[in-house]
Amino acid sequence: MVNTEIIYKAFNKPDLEALQIVQIEGHCKICGKKITEGVKEKNVLSANFTNWSELKRIDSNYICKACTFCMKNADLRKNSFVADSKHLYLLKKNDLEEYLFNLEKYIEAEFVVGITRSFKKHNSFRCIVNSNPKRFYIREEDREYLFDAEKLKTIYEMLNEAYLQFSKEELLSGQYKMISIEQFGLEKFQQYEEVFKQYRGSAQFELLVYMMNSEKRNEYIQAKIKTEKEIKKKKKGEKSNVKNHKRKY
Ligand SMILES: [Zn+2]
Repeated sequence: MVNTEIIYKAFNKPDLEALQIVQIEGHCKICGKKITEGVKEKNVLSANFTNWSELKRIDSNYICKACTFCMKNADLRKNSFVADSKHLYLLKKNDLEEYLFNLEKYIEAEFVVGITRSFKKHNSFRCIVNSNPKRFYIREEDREYLFDAEKLKTIYEMLNEAYLQFSKEELLSGQYKMISIEQFGLEKFQQYEEVFKQYRGSAQFELLVYMMNSEKRNEYIQAKIKTEKEIKKKKKGEKSNVKNHKRKY
């Protein structure tokens, strides 16, 4: 099955506007498959469309129903998604970790994965069709890369731990504040950075940093600051108690 067909089926093949569909013997301009009916390209591709080199049959003027649906569906551009022909999951940033690392829980057969950070570019028609939920290709707008769930899980866990001390900018750039390194522990830092630097600059590393949950992290940091303040206050209190104690005698 081609990528757009998987997605179209996952949506339960909604009807397209009947008027747009014409009987035509040929090939779909986008996915290249043989068609007996299709929609004129000018009714599908907008003037802003630029990905001409990624179309399979540039000589055709017609587009199949599945590709038409995918190009016109706004949810597929405004969300990241995972789909097989029976399931469709539209995902927000904070959903990504659960789905990408546990894909076998959600899909059964051939599937596609599209990730958006612009929330407007087309992913669906460019997705590779995958079959292994532990090792699959992600289409992320203009790039595509392999996601090895097991290997990346270890790095993701390390990143999350480091994220409690360092900012996303520090982790992405490798330019750390000295104070952060001291607080994290120099030896541990060196050990983690040894791993991070092997991946830094790769699409996978950028994705892992992107999908770390910043809301959860901020809650943790706020709680930590609060506890530290309370400890300080308590210590101050203890000191003044000592003073009072001394004064009495
Ligand atoms: Zn098509």
